Amino acid sequence: MSFPNQRPRRLRGNPAIRRLVKETRLTAGTFIYPLFVVPGHGIKKEIPSMPDQFQYSLDKLPQEIEEISRLDIPAILLFGIPSSKDDVGSEAYAKNGIVQEAVRAIKKTNSDLLVVTDVCLCEYTSHGHCGVVKNEKIENDPSLSLIAKTALSHAEAGADMVAPSDMMDGRVGAIRALLDKNGFSDLPIMAYSVKYASAFYGPFRDAAGSAPQFGDRKNYQMEPANAREALRETALDVEEGADILMVKPALAYLDVIRAVREKFDLPLAAYNVSGEYAMVKAAAEKGSLDYRKTVLEILTGIRRAGADLIISYHAKEVASWLEEEKIQAETVPAFH
Ligand SMILES: [Zn+2]
Repeated sequence: MSFPNQRPRRLRGNPAIRRLVKETRLTAGTFIYPLFVVPGHGIKKEIPSMPDQFQYSLDKLPQEIEEISRLDIPAILLFGIPSSKDDVGSEAYAKNGIVQEAVRAIKKTNSDLLVVTDVCLCEYTSHGHCGVVKNEKIENDPSLSLIAKTALSHAEAGADMVAPSDMMDGRVGAIRALLDKNGFSDLPIMAYSVKYASAFYGPFRDAAGSAPQFGDRKNYQMEPANAREALRETALDVEEGADILMVKPALAYLDVIRAVREKFDLPLAAYNVSGEYAMVKAAAEKGSLDYRKTVLEILTGIRRAGADLIISYHAKEVASWLEEEKIQAETVPAFH
């Protein structure tokens, strides 16, 4: 069947019908909001490279947690900046480390908010790499026990889910085994299954103070040109016991999100990373783009590509826009 019988414009005629036939929807429930915690007191410090994103000391967390909860965002992803760093990232798995303390504080404010912790060593090591370093080489197997130990200490502090981001081989399996051995067999793992060595992480390194002191991360994070390898990486995480899969970054990797979506049936997260966020902020500030429309289009695109959930610095803004739209939609009379 073709024109004039088929006229696709019939379904675009007014806001109500466009709303009705929308194939992809964003809801607050789609989002995980990343949060940075720092030692100290009375700190709510804007991250220079990420306007409107802040680092919080523990005493400033409750107010932020209440706002996130009020916006109906179901989960946060927690990153910690420790007071001291060393070769083996001891503060990452310290019983009273910054993330462990933050988990306890957040759970006190709202025990229903899902607290996901980023599990990695790079914010805690003096060399800024995600594993143990020997002769300027990032050692895979010796890193696994420390990464698993970090995940366990987050679980013991009360985290609801752990998210390993280091890209060492075998880390999901190592974490799963240690969690199970210690009575946390019900605690899910969201694996950064497909994490590329990306230029889009630039602003994050500002936020988390985790730039590598030598070399780069290309011998453990993935080569941006590779898509088939993404499926191999994901298959390994599934075998090792991952519960939620992730592709990071999102915007330049929509094809990878789609490919992982089609091949695997576990829930899929996409990380809309710091550079993707900062880029839109900067363009909007210059007046080159309509901020709200651009953000919604990007996030809808990530969902349309196949992501079930999105980790995004835009989460709070979007949740509040969706609230506004809902109020508007509900107050529009049925006939007019
Ligand atoms: Zn790392």
